[in-house]
Amino acid sequence: MHPEVAAYVLGVLDEADLQEFERHLDSCERCQTELRELRDVPDLLDNLKLQTSASEDDDPPIPMSR
Ligand SMILES: [Zn+2]
Repeated sequence: MHPEVAAYVLGVLDEADLQEFERHLDSCERCQTELRELRDVPDLLDNLKLQTSASEDDDPPIPMSR
């Protein structure tokens, strides 16, 4: 999926990106469909939020090498 769809639904786009995405959405059936699906599935949104914050925090430090 286009990552912007999830970002848009999560409300993490800034205003410029938001307007750009809505313009894109107008001409992109795939994003429209995905947007509808995402809005229908709140659980999926929770998963996305968890994954997003987890992947940011979970990056392991540089492995020790000898
Ligand atoms: Zn699209």
